[in-house]
Amino acid sequence: MTFQDFNFNEQLLEGVLSMGYTTPTPIQEMTIPVIMNGDDLIACAQTGTGKTASYLLPVMNYIANSHNHHTTALVLAPTRELAQQIDQQVEGLAYFTGISSQAVFGGGDGMAYEQQRRGIQNNVNIIIATPGRLIAHLTSGILKFDKITHLILDEADRMLDMGFSDDIMRIIGYLPKKRQTLLFSATMPGRIRTLAKAILNDPQQVNIAISQPAAGIDQQIYRLHDGQKTPLLKSLLKDGGYLSSIIFASRKEIVKSLYKELKGAHINVAAFHSDLQQTEREEILLRFKNKQLPVIIGTDALSRGIDVEGIDLVVNYDVPGDPEDYVHRIGRTARAATTGTAITFVNDRDLKRLKSIEQLIDKPITQKELPEALKGIEAPPKEERSHGGPASGQRRDGQRNPKRFGKKKPPRPAAN
Ligand code: AMP
Repeated sequence: MTFQDFNFNEQLLEGVLSMGYTTPTPIQEMTIPVIMNGDDLIACAQTGTGKTASYLLPVMNYIANSHNHHTTALVLAPTRELAQQIDQQVEGLAYFTGISSQAVFGGGDGMAYEQQRRGIQNNVNIIIATPGRLIAHLTSGILKFDKITHLILDEADRMLDMGFSDDIMRIIGYLPKKRQTLLFSATMPGRIRTLAKAILNDPQQVNIAISQPAAGIDQQIYRLHDGQKTPLLKSLLKDGGYLSSIIFASRKEIVKSLYKELKGAHINVAAFHSDLQQTEREEILLRFKNKQLPVIIGTDALSRGIDVEGIDLVVNYDVPGDPEDYVHRIGRTARAATTGTAITFVNDRDLKRLKSIEQLIDKPITQKELPEALKGIEAPPKEERSHGGPASGQRRDGQRNPKRFGKKKPPRPAAN
């Protein structure tokens, strides 16, 4: 199948080809005809599958053919980074069409707010927004949503995780009832199905190999103790020949202290976490995208939606608690038909987590042997788990995590 087969508007097709897309990805093959047919849709697809273009293209085709100058499509996304990336994809695809868009997100300076406001007032065709900031513009009364024909929720599961459920319902309250609604989510927990029931009308469903990492990723683990993690990381970054790497750690305290360690080893690295200003975060991502910055360390906040091409190494400094997060993290490499390496550090406490991941991806991950020089490093005493984070099931305040351990069962009544 080719993009010509969709009968897209000519200028739009030109934009697609100029972006270097030649063949539709599986999610695009499955969803584009459904959306062009006017049906509501619930699609289970992760970042890296081409899901953004799978909804942008049919919606942009509709706009290009209707030659309108109203805001007709609203895309809701969980983070400003994702909103900006979607906006960039619109810009690329729309290059020959005259379709306009505006990303609307919080955290920028006064100038960013003004620019967003002007874009909204100029009736851009597509608004891509994080729910919180959109509500602020909604209450200021400048948004006109009466001509919206398409609503898209991107990474809906993440939006619910971030507590945007009420904001989403409030925004939907401002939209015309007659519209086409498309919901994209990487996972399909019960809450998503409930949301889908509330806002979609007799939707078509598309599932794309949920929870399976891209085939081009070489997945590896190292079995080690916490004292070996940083030396191994340094050796991978210095001697591995990787050009663009992301390191994931579970908490920002670990991100910060690792950052110091790597800097100390003269590795060109930046830390990405929630304590940074929006402009600092943007600057780091831009340098990383432009390949001026070879290494970035972050928490899971980095793992979804970051669309950077040419990342050849992902390291899980610790094993993510949720197996789905593993898939999201390693999905940062080997995007759209390239190859990459994903290395996970596994200590004794994380063996259970590793097992859950292997169950989810339905295959064992190759174990690599530690370099000889690192084998002799002694394990730190148990109380000095500086980089390993709290032991599984243990909170930082020392309390046991009730979710993980569950409540104690009441004693059985004694038999008479
Ligand atoms: P996404 O899953 O939407 O985050 O897309 C992942 C990456 O794949 C982005 O960099 C897209 O520009 C790229 N992409 C999307 N569709 C195609 C396609 N049909 N051919 C090649 N690359 C694509």
